[in-house]
Amino acid sequence: MRSEYIIRFDGDYRFLSNFWKCDVEFEGDTYLSTESAYQAAKTLNKAEREMIKNTASPGAAKRMGRQVDLRDDWEEVKDSIMLEILRIKFSTHKDLEDKLLETGDKILVEGNKWCDCYWGVCYCDKCNGIGKNRLGDFLMRVRAETRNLGTLRQTDVSSKDALVLEKI
Ligand SMILES: [Zn+2]
Repeated sequence: MRSEYIIRFDGDYRFLSNFWKCDVEFEGDTYLSTESAYQAAKTLNKAEREMIKNTASPGAAKRMGRQVDLRDDWEEVKDSIMLEILRIKFSTHKDLEDKLLETGDKILVEGNKWCDCYWGVCYCDKCNGIGKNRLGDFLMRVRAETRNLGTLRQTDVSSKDALVLEKI
């Protein structure tokens, strides 16, 4: 069977984008989007985090994130922080979690045209489909974790049912 791909996080799949607006609670603050939380995580300076928190859009948060006092360990921690923020997004928004599960086994690729070959795959004429797709990978990981958790929950329910039946 050939795998199906979702290569653009727009239209029905816009919710997969880090620019999707939804409250994200991260380290004691509530941000407008996963992008905003991720940009804030770049700095340990409280005032800078506050400024990013107060930006009106994920795009503005991203621009501000380029100017912050970057924490020394950023390159080492940025992947795990992105994953953590994605887990927060989907575990706290049931509607988005359901939509993520509905993508089934489709391969999620953050296709872009702005040469982000780290988080996504760039399809500009120069890059022509090159990229590490870390964001897509993390989304698929969160999806798999969520699905496994669902299976565990189901197991819980049925074992409880069994106990009730025994009592009767
Ligand atoms: Zn490119």
